[in-house]
Amino acid sequence: MRALTWQGTRRVRVEDVPDPRIERPDDAIIRITSTAICGSDLHLYEVLGPFLDAGDVLGHEAMGVVEEVGSAITHVAPGDRVVVPFTISCGRCFFCRRGLDSQCETTQVTEHGTGAALLGYSRLYGQVPGAQAELLRVPHADHGLMPVGEELPDHRYLFLSDILPTAWQGVRYADVPEGGTLAVLGLGPVGQLAARIGALQGARVMAIDPVPARREMAARHGIETFAPGEDSVAAIREETAGRGPDAVVDAVGMEAHGSPAAHAAHRAVGLLPDALGRAALEKAGVDRLAALHTALDLVRRGGTVSLSGVYGGAASPMPLLRMFDKQIQLRMGQANVRAWTDTLMPLVEDPADPLGLDDLVTHRLPLEEAPAAYDMFQRKHDGCVKIVLDPAG
Ligand code: NAD
Ligand code: ZN
Ligand code: ZN
Repeated sequence: MRALTWQGTRRVRVEDVPDPRIERPDDAIIRITSTAICGSDLHLYEVLGPFLDAGDVLGHEAMGVVEEVGSAITHVAPGDRVVVPFTISCGRCFFCRRGLDSQCETTQVTEHGTGAALLGYSRLYGQVPGAQAELLRVPHADHGLMPVGEELPDHRYLFLSDILPTAWQGVRYADVPEGGTLAVLGLGPVGQLAARIGALQGARVMAIDPVPARREMAARHGIETFAPGEDSVAAIREETAGRGPDAVVDAVGMEAHGSPAAHAAHRAVGLLPDALGRAALEKAGVDRLAALHTALDLVRRGGTVSLSGVYGGAASPMPLLRMFDKQIQLRMGQANVRAWTDTLMPLVEDPADPLGLDDLVTHRLPLEEAPAAYDMFQRKHDGCVKIVLDPAG
C-alpha cells in the first residue's frame, strides 16, 4: 500500500510499504477514506525527530471503512463506516473505567513512562504504524472504533478521532464559570474548535494567533481575535476589568516557527539535555514556552490554565512562585478521546452544525501530495487551517 513515511527532520515521503495484517484477535484493518494532518504531526516532523526512525508511518486522525476484523471483534464488521480514535485504549482497565483512556494500563508505554499507545507516534508511544496510509491496523478495535452513519461527509465525523475531543477536554478542564471569559492561545485546528466550544457554552472568547487567515476564520465564528504581543495581553486584560480572563486554553504547545536559527535551536532541544537545550534556545532568541508563559501571565488570579498544546521536555523553568501566588489551577493531558465522543456525537450530527465543522477543512489533497501538505501546514501558508489527505485521491 501507499503510506506517508518519516525520513528525517522536515522530510517525509509517500512510498510503498507492506499492507498491515491482523496481528491479534481484537485488531481490525480499516481502509482509510480521510486522514488529517495535526499540529502534533508537526512536532514529529521537526522537534521530536530524534525519536523517530526513517520509514515510520505517520498520522493519527483517520476514518474509513472496516476491511477485515480479528476473531474477537463483535461491535463492527467489514463494510462499516468508522472513525478511529488516536489513543489506543482497552476500555476495561482501572484508568479507562475512570474516563482516562489516554492513560490505559494495557497499552501504556512503560519504557518512556508515557501514557497509552498512540497511532503514528513511532517509538515515542508504542511504535504503532500511523494512519496517513491506504490501510491501517487498529489495536483494541472493539472498544476504539466508532461506527457512524452514511449520510454526512467525512469532515463532519473525522475530527472525533482527535481534535474535537481534545478541544472539548481543553475547555472542560478550563472550567470557565457560567457567563465567564475564556482566552484561547493559538487558532490552529485545536484552537479553532476550543474557541467555538467555549462560545457555544456561553463564554466570552478572546483568542490570540499570529496568522491573519486563522484569526479571520475564528472571527467568522464570533470569536474576538488578537495578534500576539504585549498589546493583546493588555487588551484582553482591559476587557476583563483588569483581572484577566477566568481561564486560558493553550492550544499552541511547543512552536518551531520563525527563523532558521529558531528551527535549529528547536531541533537541538530534542537532542540535548535540558540546560544545553535552554542555552540553544536563548541563543536563537526563542522561548519554546512562549504561549505557556503568556497563559500564566494572562489568566486571572485563581483562574485555570488548560493545556491542550503539547510541550516536550523541560526547556525553561516554570514560574512556580508566581503560579502559587496567583493560585493558578493548571490542567493538561492527552485527550481521553472515547470519554467524550458519546457527548460529541449529537453535536457532530446536528444539521445546524453548531461546531462549524463545515468551515474548518481548508484543503483536501491526495495522499501523494502529503509532503507538500506538511510543508504548507508547518509554514501556515495558503490560508491553510485543517488539511485532510485522501488516500484514494
Ligand atoms: P497548529 O500548529 O496548527 O496550531 C498552533 C497555532 O498556534 C498556530 O496557528 C500558530 O500560528 C499559533 N501560535 C504560535 N505561537 C503562538 C503564540 N505565541 N501565541 C498564540 N498563538 C501562537 O496545531 P494544532 O493542530 O491546532 O495543534 C495545537 C497543539 O495541540 C499542538 O501542540 C498539538 O500537538 C496539540 N494537540 C494536543 C492533543 C492532546 O491530546 N492534548 C491533541 C491534538 C493536538
Ligand atoms: Zn492530532
Ligand atoms: Zn485501558
